[in-house]
Amino acid sequence: KRVGYAIVGLGKLSAEELIPAARTSEHAYVAALVTSEEDKGEAFARAFDLTENDVYTYDEFEKLAERDDVEAVYIVLPNSMHREYVERAAKIGKHVLCEKPLSLNAEDAQAMVDACREADVLLMTAYRCQYTPEHWAARDAVQSGKLGTIRVIDSIHAHVEDDPEAWRLKMALAGGGPLPDIGLYSLNIIRFVLGEEPQWVFADLHQPEGDERFGEVEERVSWTMGFSGGVVAHCLTSYAAQSTSTLRVLGEKGSVLMDPAFDYQGLKLTIEDSEGKFQPSFPAYDQFGNEFDHFAQCIREGKTPWTPGEEGVADHVVMDAIYESARTGKRVELKPVKKKDASR
Ligand code: NAD
Repeated sequence: KRVGYAIVGLGKLSAEELIPAARTSEHAYVAALVTSEEDKGEAFARAFDLTENDVYTYDEFEKLAERDDVEAVYIVLPNSMHREYVERAAKIGKHVLCEKPLSLNAEDAQAMVDACREADVLLMTAYRCQYTPEHWAARDAVQSGKLGTIRVIDSIHAHVEDDPEAWRLKMALAGGGPLPDIGLYSLNIIRFVLGEEPQWVFADLHQPEGDERFGEVEERVSWTMGFSGGVVAHCLTSYAAQSTSTLRVLGEKGSVLMDPAFDYQGLKLTIEDSEGKFQPSFPAYDQFGNEFDHFAQCIREGKTPWTPGEEGVADHVVMDAIYESARTGKRVELKPVKKKDASR
């Protein structure tokens, strides 16, 4: 039996990616919609073969408790609303898939993990790039030793955000600028590919004066992360540079290059090792469909998702340190964390 999801928040991502992906999913389907605008909800319902009885307002969220066919909720709201809706979902006993960034900071993110644990529901952070064959192949190449000792990593994730009214540019709603929105991909995937946590960070932040878009949040953050054995990662994220998403890992005997690295489709991976240079190809897949399916299977099998809430907390800990470093001008040391189990 497929797992029914309620989608909470009908913005661009839900409309263009999630709901279509769920329709082709093997283990999941959309059973209900939660939105502030009833008209919009009903239009979505018609387009996706649901009825008006499947549409709820934010105030009616708790009514989902009566829907046995809704086993999970997927939170696709502005970042500042994630905590409230994850906690409300936990209270009514629904499993929660929550969009990235998990929250606004590590403290809020940890509270969400705790709430779900207390309510005995699963929480998954929607890190779509950890559900692609390209990122797993990159991770395997790095961790197999084929590239020799890893020395240097670099990653850029940028695009132009040109609507000054966008919630992404409001500190209270977004919790930051490009760092928690798109720079997070570089951070998350570097941790994933290496299978290690950074030991320290050093960051610089740019907030241009006179540009109405960046009155509250930064335009750009560049940061360095240090890992064990002297591995260093240089990252840059911007809301005012041409669309770019890259990841490069240099070992002593080989390298991994992904460009684009974080797009929804068309990821390009090049691996160079002692056997030569090659670009592996994989059967077609949908990143969002893979997430829906993975979480649905975890629910069926009572298993912890590969990217649980704790994975979202781990990134918030590093992002908090990145902002602290940018503010103080000093390198920030991070507490040692237990290494993640490599099985999925
Ligand atoms: P969006 O602006 O397109 O949609 C946001 C939704 O929230 C809309 O339905 C809007 O009506 C609702 N909303 C409720 N209160 C709001 C408020 N005060 N201001 C603005 N909207 C409000 O945003 P989106 O791009 O769909 O992003 C939603 C979440 O999904 C964010 O957390 C974002 O980081 C995440 N996201 C993830 C990916 C990914 O690739 N995984 C891609 C895009 C967005």
